Amino acid sequence: MEKIYYLDNAATTKVFDEEFEIMRSQNENGFYNPSSAYKVSIDVKKTLDKSREKICRVLGGQNGKLIFTSSATESNNLVFEGVHLKKTQEILISVGEHPAVYNSAHRLEKQGIIVKDIALQNNGCVDFEDFKRKMTKDVALVSIMHVSNETGAVNDIKKLCEFAKSVNRNVIFHSDGVQAFCKEKVDMKSLGVDLYTISGHKIHAPRGISALWVKNGVVLDALLVGGGQEQGLRSSTENVAGAVAFAYATCKLNEELDENQKKVNKVKSEILNKLKQSKIAEFMKINAEENSSPYIMSISFKNIKGEVLMNLLEMSGILISTGSACSSKKAGNRTLEAMGLDNSWVIGSVRLSFSAYENYDVDYIAQHLVDAVLRLESNNKQKR
Ligand code: PLP
Repeated sequence: MEKIYYLDNAATTKVFDEEFEIMRSQNENGFYNPSSAYKVSIDVKKTLDKSREKICRVLGGQNGKLIFTSSATESNNLVFEGVHLKKTQEILISVGEHPAVYNSAHRLEKQGIIVKDIALQNNGCVDFEDFKRKMTKDVALVSIMHVSNETGAVNDIKKLCEFAKSVNRNVIFHSDGVQAFCKEKVDMKSLGVDLYTISGHKIHAPRGISALWVKNGVVLDALLVGGGQEQGLRSSTENVAGAVAFAYATCKLNEELDENQKKVNKVKSEILNKLKQSKIAEFMKINAEENSSPYIMSISFKNIKGEVLMNLLEMSGILISTGSACSSKKAGNRTLEAMGLDNSWVIGSVRLSFSAYENYDVDYIAQHLVDAVLRLESNNKQKR
């Protein structure tokens, strides 16, 4: 098979080889239901709780508990369905949230809850002035993503959370940390949040295992009711093998975090430099220099269709995305439009997202990217 350069790691990542063995062994020797009363099941429950503890420790979340879920989408839904809200109370979210937050929040409007979107600055971060205006005593729940899956913009969650609590000390503050966890240093105590979402398959663990961290004292209703697993917050027989693999990937990435950031940053800047040195007429780097994740590079080529560019690159074995994979079939782009980009830039936007565990031939990737853009620019000129 032709070599594939996978540059869509914000959509999902490859499971480490070691994890297949870890999961095989868990499923073979520890397949028992953790809720059963016999010794082998009690041991499986211990293994599950050990994985929970490991992840909690990496989160700096000893002042709370980790609830395993099946996906970050489920964790985010649990937040909006689980937090006790009264009619006329308000929710604040940023306009750039992933649909798993954006749609979960706006769905509550049918119940009389007021949902307000906070504007973005042109660097993709939440506009603090708009946040300050909208953050009143009526706001019961705030949800702001830590790192944007589309632009890599990193929000100052600590500052936003501190401000929210200074206005209403009872406000519940949630952050979707899917693109931050194990890629940025995160610490629940220092961020000050009440709820934090993480997802296994974004950090080289398998799909089907994610979590919601819940600070002690925060009261939630369950999304799934039944046997009362996960401290009553998520009934279903637990995915123990998935949890063990999730804990393995968490510890590995956490240990290698600094080194990994350097690796992906190098790939990102090398590609960017090649673009800057090229003959491409109009190109824009959407990520800001600062407050930006090294794992995500969001760029746009004026008047070129991102989708056509993506298809051309795929022919050379280079896989990129035109924004979030979940929303790639929808027209427009809520986040980029909120950052003030006009349509000629929005349609030309593509996202390259990296993994420190992939080998990239930067020269090959950059050359094919530049050639494809130049070809599309020349097609455009001929049409005029
Ligand atoms: N939140 C963010 C920021 C994401 O990037 C994604 C996936 O792209 C999700 C939530 C949904 O994650 P999952 O696929 O685990 O449901």
